[in-house]
Parts: sequence; C-alpha cells; structure tokens
Amino acid sequence: MDETNLSQDLISIQENEAIPYEELVKFADNPDYLNMYVQKYGQKLYQQCIFSLTHISINESLSEIKWEHIVDHRKKLNDSLNRDVGLKVAAIDYLENISDKDFEMTVMENDKVDNIVDVATIDQLTSLYVRSMFDEMLKQEFQQYLRNNQKLSIMMLDIDDFKHFNDTYGHQGGDEALTIIGSVLLNAVRKSDIASRYGGEEFVVIMPQTDIQTAFDVAQRIRQKIEDTDIDGKSLTISIGVSETSASVKSAEELLKMADDALYQAKENGKNQVVQANES
Ligand code: GH3
Ligand code: MG
Ligand code: MG
Repeated sequence: MDETNLSQDLISIQENEAIPYEELVKFADNPDYLNMYVQKYGQKLYQQCIFSLTHISINESLSEIKWEHIVDHRKKLNDSLNRDVGLKVAAIDYLENISDKDFEMTVMENDKVDNIVDVATIDQLTSLYVRSMFDEMLKQEFQQYLRNNQKLSIMMLDIDDFKHFNDTYGHQGGDEALTIIGSVLLNAVRKSDIASRYGGEEFVVIMPQTDIQTAFDVAQRIRQKIEDTDIDGKSLTISIGVSETSASVKSAEELLKMADDALYQAKENGKNQVVQANES
C-alpha cells in the first residue's frame, strides 16, 4: 500500500469534536500512523488528542512532548502494575500527578521514577489503587460497558467493627490489619479486576465483563478468605455489597450507589456477609 492510499484511510477529525478512544489508542501504539494525521492536521492534533482523553487544554507548543510523556507513562504504569490501565487513566494520572515533576524525573535514576509512578497511583498502606484512580477507572469501564454492552459488576467492602479493633489494638495494629487485608484482596481478585481503597476501611473492586452471579461468588470467596486470615493472631470480618449494570442503571454513580446500599443491607443483616443489589 502506498502513502496516498494510507492517507485515504484516515478518519476525518473535526476541530471541536473528541477523537474516538480507539483511534487514540492506535495513535499511542503506532507513531507512524499518528504522524500521517499530524501531517494532515498539524501540531494542534496533539492538543486535541490530550483534550479528547482528559478535557484538559495543553498549550499547543507543549502538547507533542506531553503526548509522548503520556504514552511513556502508560507503559511504565502497565509494567509496574502488571495490567493495562488504559490511555485515559495514564493521561489523567500523568497530568495531575506527574507532569510538574518532569524536570526532576529527567535527572533521576530509573528506579526512582518507577517509585513516583507508584506513589501517585497506589495507596501506600494497602498497595491498592487510590480513590482518584478508582473514580477515573469506573467512568472508563462504564463507558466501555455502554459501547460493548458487556456486563460490568462492582463490589463495595467495609471491614466489620473496625473502630473496636482500633480501640483494642491501637491505630498501629489497625494499620497492620489494613495492610494484610489489602494484600488478601489483591490476591483474591482477577488480573482484569481493579481493586481500590475507597476510604479509611472501605474498599471497592471493579469487575469488567462480569455478571452479578460471578461477582457474588468472587465476593463470597473474598469474605471467607478474610474471615480465615490470621491477622497477627487476631481476626476480622468484612461485609460486601455487589451490583451490576442493567438497562435501568444510567450512570457509574448509580452503579456505585447500588453496591453501597447492598453493603448497608449486609451490615443491617448482621455483618460478615455478601448482599446482592436489587434490580432498580
Ligand atoms: P461497621 O461494622 O458498621 O463498619 O463498624 P466500624 O467500626 O467498622 O465503622 P466505623 O465507621 O464506625 O469506624 C471505622 C473505623 O475505621 C474508625 C477509624 O478510626 C478506622 N480507620 C479508618 N481509616 C483508618 C486507617 O487508615 N488506619 C486505622 N488504623 N484505622 C482507620
Ligand atoms: Mg466504614
Ligand atoms: Mg467498618
């Protein structure tokens, strides 16, 4: 295929329209392909790419270098987390947490740079994703679900009577318990699942392409594992609410609210159990 033919395959990009996510992924994976677009649309294409991903406006003259950094940041995140975080999460994480550290990063050794990548994205106590990453990823997975109509389930988890545990064993003992529970959770979910620390002693897991029956089974397994885990000679239990997408669930927030309501029900019913959200 010669170049003229290739150029005819280019999709047309309107100045004020978002570039489709699939196209942006092709740009990131194939710089030659991106270059053909840049020849046609000019440098401002980089700016439009970043805006399409994040709704953040970058100065045109800086946008090419920022784009390259975002693509690079995605590789680093993927390597360090051992999963594909997607271009959108990488872009937001880069612009919000890393960008200002550009200069420092260029003079740092590689292992230190990897450390910064972790700090911005991963909760230090539990090794799970931080809340801001969860928010972004839930939005992204919900969009993905709307496009492909493959079920998406989530679970919300809350440690039972953790205040009492803290009161009995001290804050330090509580912190150690959180670390252990974080690692049980991370080991119990699949690679494609996204486990985050939602708040103090609350967690949330996004399960893409998973129906509620499977999500419920995974949740039961996690609940049992935590009950069986030795926490420095003590034990804890956890309550879990699960929810799944359906025609009546209009937004990511609604999906989350349903899991939260189910979690509340699990607490009401006596804790250490899993409750499935009602169809709304
Ligand atoms: P329930 O079974 O209804 O969830 O009761 P609970 O005691 O777990 O819930 P409550 O919300 O009353 O208390 C949560 C406790 O979690 C209080 C807070 O001190 C503790 N906590 C939250 N974050 C941390 C943390 O980072 N470290 C420690 N050690 N404790 C934390
Ligand atoms: Mg709580
Ligand atoms: Mg609790």
